[in-house]
Amino acid sequence: MNITVIGSGYVGLTVGTCFAEMGNNVTCVDVDEHKINNLNKGIIPIFEPGLDNLVLKNLNKTLFFSTSLKEFNSKTEIIFIAVGTPMKEDGDVDLKYFYEASKQIGQTIDKHTIIVNKSTVPIGTADKVKEIIQTELEYRKVDVTFHVVSNPEFLKEGTAIADFMKPDRIVIGADSEVAFHKMEQLYSPFFRTHDRFIRMDIRSAEMTKYAANAMLATKISFINEIANICEKVGADANKVRIGIGSDSRIGYNFIYPGAGYGGSCFPKDVKALHKIAKEHGYTAKLIASVEAVNDAQKLIIAQKVIHRFGEDLSGKTFALWGLSFKPGTDDVREAPSIYVIKELLNKGAKIKVYDPKAIATAKEFYLKELENITYCDSKYQVLENADALILMTEWKEFRSPDFEEIKLKLNSPIIFDGRNQYNVFNLKEKGFEYYQIGK
Ligand code: NAD
Repeated sequence: MNITVIGSGYVGLTVGTCFAEMGNNVTCVDVDEHKINNLNKGIIPIFEPGLDNLVLKNLNKTLFFSTSLKEFNSKTEIIFIAVGTPMKEDGDVDLKYFYEASKQIGQTIDKHTIIVNKSTVPIGTADKVKEIIQTELEYRKVDVTFHVVSNPEFLKEGTAIADFMKPDRIVIGADSEVAFHKMEQLYSPFFRTHDRFIRMDIRSAEMTKYAANAMLATKISFINEIANICEKVGADANKVRIGIGSDSRIGYNFIYPGAGYGGSCFPKDVKALHKIAKEHGYTAKLIASVEAVNDAQKLIIAQKVIHRFGEDLSGKTFALWGLSFKPGTDDVREAPSIYVIKELLNKGAKIKVYDPKAIATAKEFYLKELENITYCDSKYQVLENADALILMTEWKEFRSPDFEEIKLKLNSPIIFDGRNQYNVFNLKEKGFEYYQIGK
């Protein structure tokens, strides 16, 4: 099939590349000229395991990049919109990129096309997209039919290729058999044994994405709240996690106590769902609490540091392992690490940081112009002359470090672990002061 993907970020680039890998003819479009120039040279703008190989394999064969929708493949049958839908200051979803892309579609299409909303958008957005496209077509006096479909994306950064190539389910929200059929044709090659299509109306599909993210965020905030209670009552959240996870109705996934969730999706989607409900006259109390618990949790490690070293941290230096909001990605959007760093800097501390992939993005967008931060090239270099180690992202290389080396390099053997990676008793035996979440 001939496909155009508007927006070549984490989602658009992955989606476009995977469709190209399946033999479709794909053009990925982005307004960011620098990004498109680089992609045309085979330079990938983000770190996503396996993505670079797939792009290089298909580049200029089945996968093309362009800055202009007008130059897109005139045979295009399906256009995906995968532009960013970031959060505004007030928590509303910023749909300006999304509506702009819809407008461009209306200004460009000249034959029957299926428009697929891949971005996460508030319920009812598909109706607005239809209106925008229809208005542009009428203005151009072009008489073509089109269908708008909602096809929310559930890939996870860090495992995006595998998630997209072997999906749990493909949710398709549409209002015509033509659109359902076309979408199922497109995705059929991704299922070898049996398909996993879930057909529904468009609004339910749009809501499914918010409900899925809110459910996952709820599990995280729930276990973090349990962990905080565990600390007060002298229980161990690690043991409680295993105790409850063994119940198949609960399961082990997404119940790890930690320093809070971040990323480009959970924080913005939970906030958006709360706002959407409010706009429709409903106060979503549980959703609001999930967010409130997480906001507090993001600072819990900083509070532990302050509790241990005092309110005035001037003269203290902390080594921080991990900036990205989770391992396997260079994405630092809403990462708890940034909140912890800023809080400790505010208290006068100096910070040394190491992350295997996310230093460049953090430096450019999130820690820009902040003083008293040193960026290091290795996990051991960062420890030199530091008063304690703070672990914020559970990259594999942090799982089994050389504790003797850590002890040797730190001024004092103290570890604050925001991801409960180590065994308390082993570390105590090695002479460490060790702080976790929920114990
Ligand atoms: P991103 O910020 O990485 O990428 C968005 C891209 O869109 C940018 O490259 C930007 O330049 C481009 N863009 C903006 N306006 C454009 C236009 N008019 N024409 C062409 N390109 C344009 O965003 P992302 O993380 O890929 O997220 C995209 C959407 O997918 C969001 O709605 C997000 O909530 C959703 N989503 C993200 C993930 C994820 O893990 N990142 C997972 C599922 C769903």
